[in-house]
Amino acid sequence: MLTGYLELSVCDHDRKADCMSLRIHNTLSGQLEEFKPLHDNQVGMYTCGPTVYDFAHIGNYRTFVFQDILRRWLKYRGYELRHVMNLTDVDDNTIRKSKAAGLSLRDYTAKYIEAFQVDRQLLSLEDPEIVVRATDSIDDMVKMIQTLMEKGYAYASEGSIYFRVAAFPHYGQLTKIDLTGIRDGARIDSDKYDKNNARDFALWKAPKEGEPFWETPIGPGRPGWHIECSVMSMKYLGETFDIHSGGVDLIFPHHENEIAQTEAATGKPFVRYWLHAEHLIVNGEKMSKSLGNFYTLRDLLTQGHRPSAIRYLLAAVPYLRHLNFTFDGLHQAQQSIERLRNFRLRLTQESFPAGENTALEDRARAARQAFEDALDDNLNTAEALGAIFAMVRDANTAIDRGEFRAGDRAAFLDTLERWDRIFAVLEDNDNAKLRQFGLGLEAPVAAGIPASATAPAGAEAAIAGNGHGSAPMPGLLSDESISQAIAERDEMRRKGNYARADEIRQNLQKAGVILEDSKAGTRWKRK
Ligand SMILES: [Zn+2]
Repeated sequence: MLTGYLELSVCDHDRKADCMSLRIHNTLSGQLEEFKPLHDNQVGMYTCGPTVYDFAHIGNYRTFVFQDILRRWLKYRGYELRHVMNLTDVDDNTIRKSKAAGLSLRDYTAKYIEAFQVDRQLLSLEDPEIVVRATDSIDDMVKMIQTLMEKGYAYASEGSIYFRVAAFPHYGQLTKIDLTGIRDGARIDSDKYDKNNARDFALWKAPKEGEPFWETPIGPGRPGWHIECSVMSMKYLGETFDIHSGGVDLIFPHHENEIAQTEAATGKPFVRYWLHAEHLIVNGEKMSKSLGNFYTLRDLLTQGHRPSAIRYLLAAVPYLRHLNFTFDGLHQAQQSIERLRNFRLRLTQESFPAGENTALEDRARAARQAFEDALDDNLNTAEALGAIFAMVRDANTAIDRGEFRAGDRAAFLDTLERWDRIFAVLEDNDNAKLRQFGLGLEAPVAAGIPASATAPAGAEAAIAGNGHGSAPMPGLLSDESISQAIAERDEMRRKGNYARADEIRQNLQKAGVILEDSKAGTRWKRK
């Protein structure tokens, strides 16, 4: 369907001299660097997978969506990708939670591994070439720890084995921390700790009462978290590979420790490009259970939000920036997707006069170039989105003015299709996916996310107790509606109509809004 001209005018591979190449931000250097794989056209990439002790939250998925955009973009640029992701199914958290649930580690984590795989499909995250469970690589971890001991980088103490930070002079290169506070021989056993607590970390942990352990040549016990990723990445990608990625919270201590133990063991550089996605915040605040603004992907789906809108929102902000998650943003994401889908429908369903309008075809090609340049520029997804929406606006205007010709369709459909190879939101398959995994709400609720950012009229009325419908879906009420409902409740209380006031409070609660009364007035928060 495409003219040869289209294929010649824009490069598919950044290896051509006239094309811009991919530049990415390397945490190791703190700079934007041109990306060049170690081996020709092949890219080895490792991404730290989830610790499977609970449902993953939207902050986790911000990172996983970024990594999906990265892997899709590398493939788009013609690289052959070998992407390895681990599942951390043994660490402090998985052990603690499985114990509390009275289940074996394997049985407990199986549930969350399955949930993670379902979530990935819902969010259209491509499968890595290799997914590996930590507990399937214990023998390799033991071997690496033996090597570190032989080379004098590790020592045993009370049944555990620690990495001696003082023996590795480059420690701190990724985090750029001041090491003067680290006392040689001071040890830490927990998997997670902060920079002020930097000290010798556990490679192997002695068995504890009631905890799972493995009998091995280095004694009974279980691996520390950090050694797991070093071993699993090298096993499939070699001692030196191209990309290692995770959220910024993994820079210290996890990735710093990975570098130390791996480079100490091999004597070679470990990873060439370290990529880290910034935090997701909610309404400008850190997401936390205590603040009541903590959402798993499942929470949002239960509230009727669509997987494609969530993917779009998580992809829309370039990975080096904080992503401020709001429900308004989620509704806007839904509208943006509708706009793109409608445009594509218009292209394919409307009839246009025969012929071609060269200027319009140039417009489509320019949009393609713009979104490709944006993604080459350290995966600037915001600009890539901007490029496609500018094209849609111009094309819609041309159609409205009768300037569009049948021959122009292909160029626009081509740009859309290429853009969607990365963003993956144009196919209208949310409800089918939710049904497939038994997560769908009954129609019309699942399909009933209003195109506008407000709740359905019936829902708003139900808050004040006037409506006949059930309580509205959580997350759909605007801040304004909540404030109005609270004002009405205050008035009812002043008038002594406590039954009605209580009804309003209960309806808000059903909608996921919790009220807290104090002398200073009523505060509210979303569940
Ligand atoms: Zn890791």
